[in-house]
Amino acid sequence: MNSNKKKVVIIGSGFSSLSASCYLAKKGFDVSLFEKNDTVGGRARQLTKDGFTFDIGPSWYWMPDIFDRFFADFGKKTSDYYQLDKLSPAYKIFFDDDIITIGDSMDKICEEFERIEKGSSIHLKKFIAKAQRNYDIAINEIVYRPGLSPLELVTKDTVIRVDQFFKTISQEVRKKFKNPKLISTLEFPVLFLGAKPNKTPAFYSFMNFADFGLGTWHPKGGMYQIIIAMKSLAQELGVAIHTDSAVNKILVKDGKATGISVNSEKINADMVLSGADYHHTETLLDKEYRQYSEKYWQRKTFAPSSLLFFIGFDKKLDNILHHNLFFDTDFGEHATEIYDKPKWPSRPLFYANFPSVTDNSMAPANKETGFFLIPIAPGLEDTPELRDQYFDIILKRFQERTGQSVENNIIFKKSFCVNDFKEQYNSYKGNAYGMANTLSQTAFMRPGLKSKKINNLFFTGQLTVPGPGVPPSLISGKLVSELMEK
Ligand SMILES: Cc1cc2nc3c(=O)[nH]c(=O)nc-3n(C[C@H](O)[C@H](O)[C@H](O)COP(=O)(O)OP(=O)(O)OC[C@H]3O[C@@H](n4cnc5c(N)ncnc54)[C@H](O)[C@@H]3O)c2cc1C
Repeated sequence: MNSNKKKVVIIGSGFSSLSASCYLAKKGFDVSLFEKNDTVGGRARQLTKDGFTFDIGPSWYWMPDIFDRFFADFGKKTSDYYQLDKLSPAYKIFFDDDIITIGDSMDKICEEFERIEKGSSIHLKKFIAKAQRNYDIAINEIVYRPGLSPLELVTKDTVIRVDQFFKTISQEVRKKFKNPKLISTLEFPVLFLGAKPNKTPAFYSFMNFADFGLGTWHPKGGMYQIIIAMKSLAQELGVAIHTDSAVNKILVKDGKATGISVNSEKINADMVLSGADYHHTETLLDKEYRQYSEKYWQRKTFAPSSLLFFIGFDKKLDNILHHNLFFDTDFGEHATEIYDKPKWPSRPLFYANFPSVTDNSMAPANKETGFFLIPIAPGLEDTPELRDQYFDIILKRFQERTGQSVENNIIFKKSFCVNDFKEQYNSYKGNAYGMANTLSQTAFMRPGLKSKKINNLFFTGQLTVPGPGVPPSLISGKLVSELMEK
């Protein structure tokens, strides 16, 4: 290794850390990355068992253009690393008295909207056209900015749309759509941003364009293929990756970070970057160097935590797609129990993912890989009894809605919840996907990419800029690398 190179150490190996490591190595830094777990990938790790393959975290591949941009920055294509297939149909939503299927084109989606509400496709086309303009503005003018100043949000395009930052997506949707099922369908995409639709600015309708306009994709072999791709790219660029390496201290001398302590060994560095949860990273510093108080974190709106089940079924299941949403209970009630009066949900909505429906490599022949997710408030009590109780609730509903019995076909079952998020990722209150994107938690109002107290300490990932999700994490890594280069 060239000893003249500036040395950067990175804490964590989630999407944001891996992204930053690639950009920093390309810029000529000597980069080493330290991950506490035994594999890289963070919340996007993979579980394999008896021929079943489960993505532990993300499963929706949205905004393929952001992945293309990432790899293109290194002269690569996603197809150099993994095979990407567009899902057709994209997903279906089970309601108590109907099922909405979202096709892989606007024409098919319009047909489905018409079936539910006559005339709604005209409104839908207008809504998506506006969402597409917002997407172009978001991608080209907003999200690739480092969140250093409010002025970053002020462009000629945002100024004429300023009302969309103060109206919510709920208001926008309800203006033109009256059918509750269509309303839920259109409010679903912003749930990825971590807050309630009635707290999320209307401008974020760009997520609806990501959904209906750009489509839902699947990397063959699962989302972990992207992690494998990024790890291999990082290594090609010279990044040294250390797993089983928990960082227990960020070392600071005279107001400058001098390195990290890993398994009690001291590693020197010119700059330190953390992609671990922001709150946890600050606990690795002496109090005087922390930027945000416990009160600050308590006041913030966090994205939900989740109760997850990874299930191996000994047969192929009926009436399901790769992605399935079970919105057969009251969306508002569940949201209140996540955000306003945190408690275990009375009648939870849930999501079920069966990647083996479209990808044979995810399960043994004639078997099905199932992943179930119930969003819950972060910080809830988590016990084996509660997990079992909720498994029974959703399995029963799953069987009723899909019209089949599966409870005697389970050959493998593993759960994951608040305590695992805390223990495995040092996640604040066991949040699953970081800090929500509300109006007051957007861009420069989020915890910063650069420490205000230590000049050579930086942050990346879903608690900072631009926000939760895989595409934002890729962007976060790029943004922080640019600040560090400066
Ligand atoms: C269940 C679930 C479903 C999701 N679904 C989707 C989806 O469908 N689509 C989508 O786009 N996004 C989805 N997301 C969000 C997406 O997965 C995350 O936004 C993204 O993976 C976050 O990456 P990150 O780099 O910010 O953090 P992380 O992936 O959390 O990486 C942080 C890393 O730091 C490590 N670490 C922590 N403390 C230390 C320490 N002291 N020393 C060393 N290492 C440490 C952790 O082990 C971890 O590996 C989902 C998330 C979850 C949990």
